[in-house]
Parts: sequence; C-alpha cells; structure tokens
Amino acid sequence: MADQGIIIDKIKWVIGKVSRNPVPLCPKDFLQLEPYYEEGEIYTHKLKCEECKKIYSLPREYHDEKKYVKRKLNSRIYKNMKFINLDDEALPIAEEKISSKDNKYFVTSLLTKSKVGLRLVVYAGEKGKRKKHKYSLSQA
Ligand SMILES: [Zn+2]
Repeated sequence: MADQGIIIDKIKWVIGKVSRNPVPLCPKDFLQLEPYYEEGEIYTHKLKCEECKKIYSLPREYHDEKKYVKRKLNSRIYKNMKFINLDDEALPIAEEKISSKDNKYFVTSLLTKSKVGLRLVVYAGEKGKRKKHKYSLSQA
C-alpha cells in the first residue's frame, strides 16, 4: 500500500501505511527534516532541512506534533465511520408472560432500562397467530 502525504502546520508529512510513523519533509526539497535542538535543549519545536538549511517552527513540541499529525489523519478516517450508540441500548430488567385461562391468548410485559430511562413494552395477542399488539410506554 502507498504511503500517505499530508500537509499540517505548513510541513509535509509522509505516513507509512504500516509503520504509521509520520516523517516530516521540507516543503521545498522533500528532504526529511531533522529535529533541531538548541544547546542544552531536550525538547524542540523546530525542524531543520539539511538541504536549504531552513529551520521550520512547529506549534507543538516535535513528538507531540507527530502524535497530532497521526491523530489528525485518524480523525479523517473516524469521521466516515458508522457509530453504534450503546447509550441507547436497552437492558431487560423484568419480564412476565401470562396466558389466558383457556390458554388461547397471551400477554407479555417487558421492562427495559437504558440511559434514556425505563421503558415498558407489552405484547398481547392470540397464541399461534403472527399478528400481535405491541404497546410501549417510556419514562417522561
Ligand atoms: Zn529544504
């Protein structure tokens, strides 16, 4: 698979499909930029091109910027994903099945709980028939 190229904070970044490690490039020379440390510095916001000797400033520390680039790219993928809302998932907490004396009819009540509240669902109908009545009440 081909690597991906993106421009973030005026730097060209190349991200390998497998390694997922963003590599900064000089926007002019396409040469990989090196983190540029001033004397005594252990963190840097700067990248240097060995070709044109230009120093590029990043809005974040180099390692944070790399993380940001990766996350920014991921967000484009996540944006197009389908999300399953588990907040709305209803968990059954009580259920009861009752039959009429002649055993021809039934009533089933089901109480569920979800983040939106309690919900009571009642099914009723004639046994063996496909058609049944359904009533549901939600907590206001
Ligand atoms: Zn350069």
